[in-house]
Amino acid sequence: MRTKLVAGNWKMNGSLESIRALIEGLQGGMESIKQAGVAVCPPAIYIPEVAQLLKGSRIVLGSQNICEQDSGAYTGEIAGPMLKEFNCEFAIVGHSERRSLYHETDEMVAQRFAAARRHGLKPILCVGELLEEREQGITEEVVDRQIDAVIKLEGIEAFADAVIAYEPVWAIGTGKTASPQQAQDVHQFIRGKLAALDATIAENIVIQYGGSVNAGNASELFAMEDIDGGLIGGASLKPDDFLAICQAAD
Ligand code: PEP
Repeated sequence: MRTKLVAGNWKMNGSLESIRALIEGLQGGMESIKQAGVAVCPPAIYIPEVAQLLKGSRIVLGSQNICEQDSGAYTGEIAGPMLKEFNCEFAIVGHSERRSLYHETDEMVAQRFAAARRHGLKPILCVGELLEEREQGITEEVVDRQIDAVIKLEGIEAFADAVIAYEPVWAIGTGKTASPQQAQDVHQFIRGKLAALDATIAENIVIQYGGSVNAGNASELFAMEDIDGGLIGGASLKPDDFLAICQAAD
């Protein structure tokens, strides 16, 4: 039985004042969330502050990225051991904004996935197609390639302690959500692909949906058989909306 997971990706938003208010708002509503896992992924500079604020809470912490290297001359990067020092449990890797704006390739993303595991962090591997790729009918091919890069480097066993987030790029931050059936079709494809290599891993892995999930559409999406919660951008910055999404996952 998989437990649903809702993770908030705050991207490069917030200030000390606003993140304190956001965490306070979330903590205030957490007693209504009984089963679903809840995580927040703040901008890296706020991780120590959020780690402090979350002490004793059921909300866990994740990073928005992780360097493939463990230390050294990699200006601007953040290493796994640093994230572990501040109690991060998850590390997002391969978000579409990292792939498109910062040119992270499938191979780099796979190495970052490996770095997360090496340091006891659960990678949240983001995969998903561009609008033109969907229109060309190659959605499955794209997702297949993105997942294969990790399998090639780390083997199927790497997914025993990982999360996949299917995020169609055309749905991220656009207000256009994939329909529950469109999302389910890709989630089923992903689970089937993993099942061909390891049935237990495929059955147990959490596959989140991401892309303009909000308080109004979360229930329908999360009701689909292979959708195990969500990776939430914009709506994760509003405590009431994020809590409503967590309740939908519950
Ligand atoms: C995301 O950035 O992962 C995301 C899904 O964003 P949004 O919910 O704003 O579409």
